[in-house]
Amino acid sequence: MSKQSLRVSFEFFPPKTEKGTTKLNAVQATLADKKPTFFSVTYGAGGSTRDRTINTVIDTATRTNIPVAPHLSCIGQSREEIIELITHYKNNNIERIVALRGDLPSGMGSSIAGIGYASDLVKLIRENTGDHFHLEVAAYPEVHPQAASADSDFKYFIEKAQAGANSAITQYFYNAGAYYEFKNRCEKAGVNIPIIPGIMPITNYTNLIRFSDMCGAEIPRWIKKRLESYGDDLESIQQFGTEAVSQLCQELINMDCPGLHFYTLNQAEPSLAICDALSL
Ligand code: FAD
Repeated sequence: MSKQSLRVSFEFFPPKTEKGTTKLNAVQATLADKKPTFFSVTYGAGGSTRDRTINTVIDTATRTNIPVAPHLSCIGQSREEIIELITHYKNNNIERIVALRGDLPSGMGSSIAGIGYASDLVKLIRENTGDHFHLEVAAYPEVHPQAASADSDFKYFIEKAQAGANSAITQYFYNAGAYYEFKNRCEKAGVNIPIIPGIMPITNYTNLIRFSDMCGAEIPRWIKKRLESYGDDLESIQQFGTEAVSQLCQELINMDCPGLHFYTLNQAEPSLAICDALSL
């Protein structure tokens, strides 16, 4: 895959405040220069950011002219709520959705009736809107943290592809080998949808460790040790982070990955620095 045909996308969360919205608008304007295939906007599980996600999606699409993909997590949502939401997106010319199960926020309990797995959500969207949406699903080269086993997780990933997903975005990882193995496994199983690596820039040691523990991303020892050695020196952490993640992306490009999806955390510079280092 040449760098010119590499698909690049940027993910944001819906801001809570006016200040956050102003900042996000500036971040999107900067990243729009990279001519991304799409911007995506996350969705709090259980519908906790429903209105903010919808507003951010519609506003971003209108303001930037770049296609926007809302994330939609089904856990804790009724079929009716989901159908209402996808109909609203369809009526507003949104053509791509990142379809997820999500995790219930603590305190919401587990008894809310809803759709259990992302494959059910993909089926529901296809049943109600046919081929209107390009559907992205999540993939876990390092195995989903709640999976019963690596094999069952892979089997359920195949179910999502068979249910009608068009492509997949991975959880972030720092071991290129995990992606290579996952991509090969898909090819051998006859799953031919593009698998796009999710890229998490490194900007903050404590947050990275906490978040990676939760989502099951492994931080290689050499990265951990280097980050530890910088202590509170944020500039060195960010400089090292850019080098390490750019190197990872280059390895993925050498493996013919079809694109890169950046978890921006609503910041332009870290993703931009990596794109620039790769001459994207
Ligand atoms: P699923 O594919 O449904 O898998 C969840 C677990 O259930 C896995 O362990 C799987 O092995 C197992 N499983 C699947 N099907 C079955 C079955 N039929 N029977 C038994 N077990 C099964 N979360 C949010 O809340 N909002 C977001 O906006 C968001 N965006 C994300 C974007 C990306 C690119 C990624 C990678 C993750 C995102 N997440 C988001 C996190 C995601 O919701 C969580 O990782 C969640 O725990 C799993 O979602 P999933 O769609 O992969 O679920």
